[in-house]
Amino acid sequence: METLHITNTLNRKKEKFEPLVEGHVGLYVCGPTVYSTAHLGNVRTFLSFDIVYRYLKHLGYKVRYVRNITDVGHITNSAGDDVDSIGNQAKLENLEPMEIVQKYTISFHDTMKIFNLEAPSIEPTATGHIVEQIEMVQRIIDNGYAYEKNGSVYFDVPKFAKEHSYGKLSGRNIDEQQDGYRELDAQDEKNDPRDFAIWKGVDETFPMRWNSPWGEGVPGWHLECSVMSTKYLGQKFDIHGGGMDLKFPHHDCEIAQSIGADGTEPVRYWMHTNMLTMNGQKMSKSLGNSVLPLELISGNHELLEQGYSPMTIRFFMLQSHYASQLDLSNDALQAAEKGYKRLANAFDLLDKVEHNGKENISDEEEKAVLKLIQDCSVYMNDDFNTAQTLAVLFEMSNKINAIYNKQFDISLLSKATFDKMKATFAAFFTNVLGLKSEKSEGSNGVTDGLMDLILEIRKSARENKDWTISDKIRDELKALNIVVKDEKDGGTTWTVG
Ligand code: AMP
Ligand code: ZN
Repeated sequence: METLHITNTLNRKKEKFEPLVEGHVGLYVCGPTVYSTAHLGNVRTFLSFDIVYRYLKHLGYKVRYVRNITDVGHITNSAGDDVDSIGNQAKLENLEPMEIVQKYTISFHDTMKIFNLEAPSIEPTATGHIVEQIEMVQRIIDNGYAYEKNGSVYFDVPKFAKEHSYGKLSGRNIDEQQDGYRELDAQDEKNDPRDFAIWKGVDETFPMRWNSPWGEGVPGWHLECSVMSTKYLGQKFDIHGGGMDLKFPHHDCEIAQSIGADGTEPVRYWMHTNMLTMNGQKMSKSLGNSVLPLELISGNHELLEQGYSPMTIRFFMLQSHYASQLDLSNDALQAAEKGYKRLANAFDLLDKVEHNGKENISDEEEKAVLKLIQDCSVYMNDDFNTAQTLAVLFEMSNKINAIYNKQFDISLLSKATFDKMKATFAAFFTNVLGLKSEKSEGSNGVTDGLMDLILEIRKSARENKDWTISDKIRDELKALNIVVKDEKDGGTTWTVG
């Protein structure tokens, strides 16, 4: 198997990936809290892990991919308190909390499908694992790392930090953490402001609550991921991922809970994706600068000049490495639209270019193409560098266009190498990067088929220097509001309007 390297947040080093069980990978990604529609920032993170999942499978691993649904309404606000996001939304929409959960889970799945993300192998819900969460709280109490106060249970951070490292992922030391929290006020039950709730007692005004040995309440947010990851992937598993805003407190607390309950650190490689920003600011619901997927597709947003297709948006996100910040802008999206079309065009040409069987091999050409084939894997093996992989696919698409336009003599390549290039291009475009041709969508392929035919006729007219026919085709199409463009690389694209 080829050697993959992953940047591990635990030590911030690019490490050789070695699964715990040969040939198998356990991958856990923190899923959405289902109280509202996923915005494009969320899409970016899930898309990054879709690439991880796809590429691991491409390498031949059998992957169990677990991505949870947070359907208990806790988000931790800046003061470190849990807020019932789902209960609040239920009140706003005058629905049952479980209706909110159902509505936004369906909406999340629809969004993932629009951008061609593969479904995980298991999608467990927090509400489906309350029993296991209660059991974990009990183990933490039994081991002396948590205490009960008025029906809530808190993790004892100072005690834990004396014996173990706390805050590894975020790199915060325990004293710095003190600054991030407000002082305890009179009604606070915690012994220390850094302690966090692993069980929170609530009264009957909270519509979502469960019975426990400590009275009615809800599990703390970090607990569900500790429970569900290890339940389905084992006490120790390979990769755990999420957006970098989850490093602290969510993931650092997960590590503390697992050690507190079971004495082991569960994760071998932690992966964190960087944020999608808009005008340099993190896209988030609370800042009110979030753009929803359907707004970007329709162009129906005050900051957008036009709409963009789902594959253009996917391509746009793949153009940057998952660990770099990515800024959403009209210019970048327009450039991505052109880039995506060029690649998709080459992909559509793949079944139109065949080797003629004559081999008059040029060592130089043969070597150059073999290098391109290899480079696709070289870059993906380098911590999933989709940006560089796309650059290699562009070079391949130039070759494919040149062959199609007879500007490159195909006999300079062996049939084996040429076929391998086609297969590599197709595999990386579709299976690894999850892109697809959007041409045949929406019109049952008839329009596209007809356009292919017309452009084919125009191409042979041009080859025969029959300018009357080729100009007539272009002008008639123009009258129909279809703009035909001959690209520098020899390809031809068309757009309506
Ligand atoms: P949430 O729905 O808030 O629970 O977040 C779901 C996932 O989206 C988490 O992994 C977050 O880290 C991630 N996320 C939230 N905002 C952004 C953003 N602006 N860019 C990238 N990922 C984000
Ligand atoms: Zn999580």
